[in-house]
Amino acid sequence: MTTRRKKIYEGKAKILYEGPEPGTLIQYFKDDATAFNAQKKAVLEGKGVINNRISEYMMTRLNGIGVQNHFIRRLNLREQLIKEVEIIPLEVVVRNIAAGSIATRLGLTEGQPLPRSIIEFYYKDDKLGDPMVSEEHITAFNWAATQEIDDMMAMALRVNDYMCGLFSAVGITLVDFKIEFGRIYEGDFSRVILADEISPDSCRLWDTVTSEKLDKDRFRRDLGGVIESYTEVARRLGIMKEMPTVIQGGVH
Ligand code: UDP
Repeated sequence: MTTRRKKIYEGKAKILYEGPEPGTLIQYFKDDATAFNAQKKAVLEGKGVINNRISEYMMTRLNGIGVQNHFIRRLNLREQLIKEVEIIPLEVVVRNIAAGSIATRLGLTEGQPLPRSIIEFYYKDDKLGDPMVSEEHITAFNWAATQEIDDMMAMALRVNDYMCGLFSAVGITLVDFKIEFGRIYEGDFSRVILADEISPDSCRLWDTVTSEKLDKDRFRRDLGGVIESYTEVARRLGIMKEMPTVIQGGVH
């Protein structure tokens, strides 16, 4: 069914198809996993189904607290209807605890709490390996305007506060995460809204008691049990109780 639709864009973990009406797209979640700028690849059966549900849950909850985003509704196991946006070519990372690239770059110990939540911007360009950029670069190269940067930072901090609370209530520590934003046009004006996805592919999530990793680092670091961990995140959030059988059934 999905293959007959016009493909607009295919990324590493998702495909965008033309939507049923102007200004909409269908976002399809693949099972493909990539890391280290796609040098490491695998197919993790069921990942797309779980990420579709977790992202739906996060976007719906965030919409409920006034963080506008592209999610309209889920269509089926792997697809959701979204608003078409003009993607701002930046990855916005929010960090609460040192891990991953900041630990390497600044010589910090993984797990060390940061003095405050830190926002970083990376320029989305696979050929360049998504280099970190500053507000100076962003405005000089016109990737986003100063007002848009302010809006993205304010929204990123609201997303962080809300998600920290949500995860903490189910025994999960939100270490860091990456979000993306896009513009929607309303007449002569444009507005920045949250886009892309929020899932264990784009967050670092640690069990608060055991520090066990429940996110994509299980794949990056060959720890195994990737799908089990993603399912555990969904289970703790109270979604997808039927999930394990769906995955074992090999639904595509
Ligand atoms: N991240 C992501 N996509 C990327 C790079 C990073 O979703 O292309 C997420 C990553 O999962 C983590 C956060 O952003 O939750 C910070 O990642 P970091 O800069 O530490 O990079 P990494 O160690 O993943 O290379």
